[in-house]
Order: sequence, then C-alpha cells, then structure tokens
Amino acid sequence: MQLNECPLIDADTIHQRIGEMARQIDQVYAGRHPVLLVTLSGAFLFAADLVRQLRTPVQIEFVRAQSYRGTQSATPLQLTGLNTETVVNRHVIVVEDIVDTGRTAHALTEQLQAHNPASIRLCALLDKPARREVSVTADYVGFAIEDHFVVGYGLDYDGLYRQLPAIHVIEA
Ligand code: 5GP
Repeated sequence: MQLNECPLIDADTIHQRIGEMARQIDQVYAGRHPVLLVTLSGAFLFAADLVRQLRTPVQIEFVRAQSYRGTQSATPLQLTGLNTETVVNRHVIVVEDIVDTGRTAHALTEQLQAHNPASIRLCALLDKPARREVSVTADYVGFAIEDHFVVGYGLDYDGLYRQLPAIHVIEA
C-alpha cells in the first residue's frame, strides 16, 4: 500500500469546512446542550477541531466502535465505553470519521436508540455514498468522496498515518 503524497483534501479546506459544520450545529442546537458521542479512534482529530469551533455548550463522550481490519469491513460492531446515562433523554450527536458501508453508523444508532435519547443525529467528516450497503444518511457531512481508501486527519491504515494534517488516498 502506498500513500499518495498529494492530499485529496488539504488541511485548510478541512478547517474551513469544519467551521461551516460547527455553525450549522450551533444553529440547530441553540438553547440545548447536546452530547457529542465521539467514535474512537478515527474521529479524534475531527472532534477536537469541531468542538473548538462550536459555541453551543456540549458534553463530550467517547466510545470505541471497531469494525475494520486493514481495508476490509468486519461485522459485527464492537462497541465499548458507552456510558448509557449520558444518552437517556439527551440530544446525541454521533461524531464519526467516515461513513462507508454504513454498518457502523447503523449498528451504533440502533444500540443508542435502546437507551431512549431525546434525538440522535450523525455528524461525519467523510462520506463514501458509493460504498453504502445499509441505508444511512448523515445529518452533517464534511465531504462526500469517491470510493478511495483514505488516511490522515485521524484515519489510519493498520494503525499508521493518523497524524497527517490532511486527508490522503492510499493505494495498492
Ligand atoms: P462502515 O461501517 O461505514 O463500513 O465503516 C466505518 C468505519 O470504517 C469508519 O469509522 C472507519 O474507521 C473505517 N473506514 C471506512 N472507510 C475508510 C477509509 O477510507 N479509510 C480508513 N482509514 N478507514 C475507513
């Protein structure tokens, strides 16, 4: 696998787009205190930058949702670290790095629904609609991309490349 040095999405573009997403979320959640449920590890940089551009007071919680080995999607979803008390009767915004087949977001949403949140919305930095296997529509999307395997800005390939400030395609 080889990293394409030329970014698919550069750091400035990411930063600007996250600002737009933050303003959108601020408008929708004005007067409420939503819970941001950040899925680790891929969404850690996205969430860190998103919350620093939000004006709405938010509670930040983390869960680990694992569904990937290498570039192959694996099921079922393994969800750890969920504090169910932070979901009951709360407005929950799930923060994901990327929606690919949609299986992770679908399974996660189903598990959260069981704890009676006031609402659940999905916020994803990246969306690969061409790869969808389960019907999932993110409410807030940074960028829709084509069917590439991407790394950087929190996303990894076998544990590497998360620290890159931009998003790059990795090729066979
Ligand atoms: P899904 O369940 O939607 O197929 O996949 C969701 C998870 O798969 C993401 O949260 C992410 O961890 C991983 N994933 C999907 N596509 C990519 C990709 O292009 N690059 C990386 N690094 N991870 C991906």
